Amino acid sequence: MNIHEYQAKELLAKFGVPVPAGHAAMSVDEAVEAAKKLPGPLWVVKAQIHAGGRGKGRFKELSESAKGGVRLAHSIDEVHEHAAEMLGKTLVTVQTGPQGKQVQRLYITDGVDIAKEFYLALLVDRETGRIAVVASTEGGMNIEDVAHETPEKIRTITIDPATGLMPHHGRAVAAALGLSGDLAKQASKVLAKLYDAFLGTDASQIEINPLAITDRGELLVLDAKVGFDSNAEFRHPDLGELRDLTEEDPMEIEASKYDLSYVKLDGNIGCMVNGAGLAMATMDIIKLNGAEPANFLDVGGGASKEKVTAAFKIILSDPAVQGILVNIFGGIMRCDIIAEGIVAAAREVDLNDPLVVRLEGTNVQQGKDILAQSGLQIIPADDLGDAAKKIVAAVKQAVPA
Ligand code: GDP
Ligand code: MG
Repeated sequence: MNIHEYQAKELLAKFGVPVPAGHAAMSVDEAVEAAKKLPGPLWVVKAQIHAGGRGKGRFKELSESAKGGVRLAHSIDEVHEHAAEMLGKTLVTVQTGPQGKQVQRLYITDGVDIAKEFYLALLVDRETGRIAVVASTEGGMNIEDVAHETPEKIRTITIDPATGLMPHHGRAVAAALGLSGDLAKQASKVLAKLYDAFLGTDASQIEINPLAITDRGELLVLDAKVGFDSNAEFRHPDLGELRDLTEEDPMEIEASKYDLSYVKLDGNIGCMVNGAGLAMATMDIIKLNGAEPANFLDVGGGASKEKVTAAFKIILSDPAVQGILVNIFGGIMRCDIIAEGIVAAAREVDLNDPLVVRLEGTNVQQGKDILAQSGLQIIPADDLGDAAKKIVAAVKQAVPA
């Protein structure tokens, strides 16, 4: 789960991380009110979307020469102007994809004068099984270029979970950022607070870019991106309230209600499979046959009729889908029960696209009989290879290229 920058900063502030003062705003009036509560003489008006690269982003509805999604303002009037121009518009950044994201919230913060910008991130490093701290002196809006062109300027330090964060980690990060004296002390402190926040919220990543040195010689977090480990959601009911559903894919939200693992993809063959491994194999074999899957969908071990119906509806609500491949292994769940679910779901959603079903496992013959006797246009398949060939051929026939 991801959250907005303003939520991330409010959360980090609770752990003692230094952030500029700021207020979220849903309207131009709220933006002006927010600005009035801050001292000035510099404000920053920031688009709140679940994507980075806002500063260099462009608004679809505005001209190329218009400013991006992070703007400095030198007066309350200017805050008003920027807010009015940005709210409701579609911001396209390197992370949103070409369709962009609509700006529905702004964050108005106290502006600071920046002496230098660093990059500092904490994330779970799966290779070492540790939390890794990634630090670079080359922070700001070009960190992707740094990673490509001068990767040696990015340093990674891992933390042994048995010892936790030690003073030497703080010194290593300060050194990686080229800091000494008081700034090095500040860097150690910021790292310790970020580490507390990481553990305390079961985060999967905390990315600070930029971590700035202000003209007053203070380290300050100017941008924060925080994501959480969804497996630990139950431990943090309060964090669940930070979820902004308007930022998420509506089909993925619907799928999560039924405990289905669904990820939308770009192809035209909808897949309904039980088990993540089988789902991956099904996607691979569709590709092997020259077509593209429209989604990844794992209905789980105990796929009930309700789940199967919900899964069908979700697959069909994607206008790109032109055919469906069901590939179910009846282990815990018997094939006859699954077949009943498929038939009921196909009737309920008034299915018109070709449907290929491959069943295997417990009570497979009863399952096949139920499908055959249903009167529905279901194409049976014997194995995974056969199923993939049949759905690709059926879609090609139904929709000639
Ligand atoms: P991003 O483009 O989505 O990563 O958004 P950021 O919040 O990182 O803002 C982009 C850039 O705006 C930063 O790298 C800074 O250079 C600049 N910026 C952000 N806040 C301030 C501020 O308070 N003062 C000044 N002078 N620049 C700022
Ligand atoms: Mg940034």
